[in-house]
Amino acid sequence: MERLQKVIAHAGIASRRKAEQLIAEGHVKVNGQIVKEQGVKVSPSDKVEVDSIPVEREQPVYFLLYKPRGVLSAVSDDKGRPVVTDYFSEVEQRVYPVGRLDYDTSGLLIMTNDGDFANLLMHPKSEVEKVYVTKVKGIPSKEALRKLQKGVKLEDGKTAPAKTKVLSTDKKKQTAIIEIIIHEGRNHQVRRMMEAVGHPVLKLKRERYASLTLQGLTAGEGRELTAHEVKQLR
Ligand code: URA
Repeated sequence: MERLQKVIAHAGIASRRKAEQLIAEGHVKVNGQIVKEQGVKVSPSDKVEVDSIPVEREQPVYFLLYKPRGVLSAVSDDKGRPVVTDYFSEVEQRVYPVGRLDYDTSGLLIMTNDGDFANLLMHPKSEVEKVYVTKVKGIPSKEALRKLQKGVKLEDGKTAPAKTKVLSTDKKKQTAIIEIIIHEGRNHQVRRMMEAVGHPVLKLKRERYASLTLQGLTAGEGRELTAHEVKQLR
């Protein structure tokens, strides 16, 4: 569901402010009925008209991208760096990332043009489970792992408890591969959590987002989500 003035603005007919004016002045119909009230929400199947001309609605689309390292989670970059939307140049709709992965983080990113869906997933209350695999400096002690599992004090407050698993260690190189599962989505959260327990991140990858995995994909590849997957995420 999207606000009527947003639908009109998105279609490029008027600014949001002007769209509100068009609504107030009785130029806008929803399913054949004039709507003058502000804040009315419409679904993709509702027929919206301005001065009896149908408003082209973008069909909502949902994708999963295996973001490579060295790509920005943004729709454009003034420094000319690669951005995640480069992978969707053939897609007619204007998709954008749901949340962010750092420039140097690889892994699973959802892309959509559905603002409500994106907001729902990014809301702290949605508590989407995210599984990361990270290569860290040093070999975490039991105490360091316990700290992560209890929640770590960061500048912006204590984190919720994380689940952790040591997948492998390299004693010679003094590095470890750790799986860490979190529900929150703070900026640089895994990097900051690992740093806080004395094990800076050398490499980071998001392996899973809710029930979605990267299975069958290599870095730079993506696929459309199935209707069932979208439903499960809502
Ligand atoms: N945590 C981070 O530190 N970086 C990411 O890209 C994702 C989670």
